[in-house]
Amino acid sequence: MTRSKNIAILGSTGSIGQNALAVVRTLPGFNVFGISGHLRLDLLVQQAIEFEPEYVVATDLEGANEFEFPRLSASKFEVGPEKLISLAAHEQVDTVIAAIVGIAGLESTWAAVERGKRVALANKETLVVAGQLFVDLARKTGSEILPVDSEHSAVFQAVKSGCIKEVKKVFLTASGGPFRDFDVAEMKCVTVEQALAHPTWNMGQKITVDSATMMNKALEIVEARWLFDLEPEKIGVVIHPQSIIHSLVEFVDGSVMAQMSPPDMKLPIQYALTYPERVEGPSPRLDLSQAMELELLPPDLDRFPALKLGFDVARAGGTAGAVLNAANEAAVQAFLNKEISFTDIVAANREILEQHNFETQPSLQALLAADRWARMEMSKWIAA
Ligand code: NAD
Ligand code: MG
Repeated sequence: MTRSKNIAILGSTGSIGQNALAVVRTLPGFNVFGISGHLRLDLLVQQAIEFEPEYVVATDLEGANEFEFPRLSASKFEVGPEKLISLAAHEQVDTVIAAIVGIAGLESTWAAVERGKRVALANKETLVVAGQLFVDLARKTGSEILPVDSEHSAVFQAVKSGCIKEVKKVFLTASGGPFRDFDVAEMKCVTVEQALAHPTWNMGQKITVDSATMMNKALEIVEARWLFDLEPEKIGVVIHPQSIIHSLVEFVDGSVMAQMSPPDMKLPIQYALTYPERVEGPSPRLDLSQAMELELLPPDLDRFPALKLGFDVARAGGTAGAVLNAANEAAVQAFLNKEISFTDIVAANREILEQHNFETQPSLQALLAADRWARMEMSKWIAA
């Protein structure tokens, strides 16, 4: 009998993290070895009680110091961001689910890839910041990076009908978010509450705002560029309001393969865990006995200028991704704090990207420096 696979869920208290636990709850052959959370420590403790992992990491020092952890016999509680790295690199961990949001997830994802783990990657920001370095490292260590992002999981599945060399173009679908039909003037007045009400997906705050500005699709263009080694010219975006078709792959002979399922992250999470096998799981199913309309529309680049930033950064490589990602993380936070307007997010991202001192072959240190520079520039932009 083969032993259960040990998984570490980094960011288990988030939207992806909770979905990952829902998958593992019903999936035989997987054991939750470690979990981590930043702010919702009561939820982290609840998860620890249910799943009895070996390690529970609370990453926010301040919050953890004020929190009273119960004495749990089954789990070891550890505090501090560096503990994430030892968990991700732990020799008993087979698979790491990278579900932390933003650059905060980079170092631990790096540690997992460095140790040759299978990485179920939700944290797209790490590939936007350092895609080339991650892909090179994975090639060296034999780490498999499997996409959890639904579009990239769809591409990963659809490409299997041929091979990557036979791909003419990959089309990432985008729901268009809550403001798909807003004009430019309406977009200027969007409130935080409106931006957080996504029509088809239930996700964390940052990605929900990214979906509304379409920065999420911009980041996904860069993510696809690195995950599938695609020239940016081979990546397209299609608006698909129903979020049933998760992406499409067009092959050189004209055949187009699409992957479909209800908008629910449990399926791509599960596939990243069980690949190359498919097993029954908790994901909802399409009811094909009912009539269903599926629309595919071209994106409006004037109303959603973020898309152009995604293509520009995918083409440029180098430090461009680190700058765009950091500027965007800071801008989204400023929008959520009501310091800037909704349309400022992409405008400020573009300005900061244009100002930066581009490097073509940066080291990880240079990328982290570019990240810090962009955050400083964004604070100046907000204060101006
Ligand atoms: P979320 O905000 O719901 O959860 C984020 C997780 O990261 C939480 O567990 C939180 O405790 C942890 N975290 C936050 N800041 C941290 C820090 N500084 N240090 C350590 N941990 C920290 O976010 P989410 O929606 O689950 O998204 C997670 C990642 O998955 C993002 O990169 C997002 O782009 C990607 N993703 C999410 C979805 C989705 O449906 N939610 C879909 C595709 C991709
Ligand atoms: Mg996605």
